[in-house]
Amino acid sequence: MEKYHYLFGPVPSRRFGRSMGVDLTPYKTCSFDCVFCQLGRTPQKTIVRKEYVPTADVLAELEHWLKTGGKADYITLSGSGEPTLHSRFGEILEFIHTNSTIPAALLTNATMLYLPEVRDAAAYADVVKVSLSAWNQASYELVNRPHPQLRFDRLVEGQKTFRSQFKGRLWMEVFLIAGINSIPADVRKIAALAKEIGPDRIQINTVVRPPAEDYATALSKEQMIALTHLFHPTAEIIAEFSTNHTKDVRANQDTIFFMLQRRPCTAQQIADGLGMHLNEVSKYLGKLLRTDQIRMQRKNTAIYYSAVNREKEKKT
Ligand code: SF4
Repeated sequence: MEKYHYLFGPVPSRRFGRSMGVDLTPYKTCSFDCVFCQLGRTPQKTIVRKEYVPTADVLAELEHWLKTGGKADYITLSGSGEPTLHSRFGEILEFIHTNSTIPAALLTNATMLYLPEVRDAAAYADVVKVSLSAWNQASYELVNRPHPQLRFDRLVEGQKTFRSQFKGRLWMEVFLIAGINSIPADVRKIAALAKEIGPDRIQINTVVRPPAEDYATALSKEQMIALTHLFHPTAEIIAEFSTNHTKDVRANQDTIFFMLQRRPCTAQQIADGLGMHLNEVSKYLGKLLRTDQIRMQRKNTAIYYSAVNREKEKKT
């Protein structure tokens, strides 16, 4: 097996160290269309649960990777969409649990946790990271733009019920966007709901990678620090403000930069051209944008990235 279709990485992850990703859905198969999504807009939101990719093939790839000495700090169900929409994601978590000592993590937007079968399947994970970035139906629609059949009350109830049943570690991400859900009065409302749910850790994040919508902009590090104390337990900041690089990260980032020096590309074109997962590409584009090495420009519905030509800019 030369190249995996459903596994990607390991990628460096702030939360999970070296994380081996497992992608269970085709591009942007999601129940949300978050304004901050690093993968772009959701073409068609869905709440249909089915076997989007063949479970047997995912298990074969995992088995091969483990047998050939695959190493990572976590195996993470994440990727191009919402993993709990895959009707057999629990079998994949169970396989990891039974066949490996590497802990399994599930990154979910939590919309499906109101279903008992989804809670049972998610319980095979060692860590489940849920999301909560709104405090009522109106803010839910503004930030996450959920499928029309999804109700905010059900999102919160699903998380509470899961917390009461789940024996593993429950982490919560709160994604904050400048001017949309970040004023302290609103963050307090999110924090109050988070306290009722009772996660073990709360991590606040902001827009540090190219978002689906230009108007989704980041809070400063200072603003983030000021908000951490509104949460119980006190929130950690997970956003990658730092530009420290490991050797691997530096090499991948340089490769993307050199590609963009030749011609402007979309994130998908970079992923296809370099054989990387879109999540990885987005991570590096975020770093390059933050250090002003590249620019982004929207053309119709696509976002193109290009390298900043400092010599040319100096002359003009
Ligand atoms: S951020 Fe996650 S939950 Fe939101 S649209 Fe993107 S993939 Fe879906």
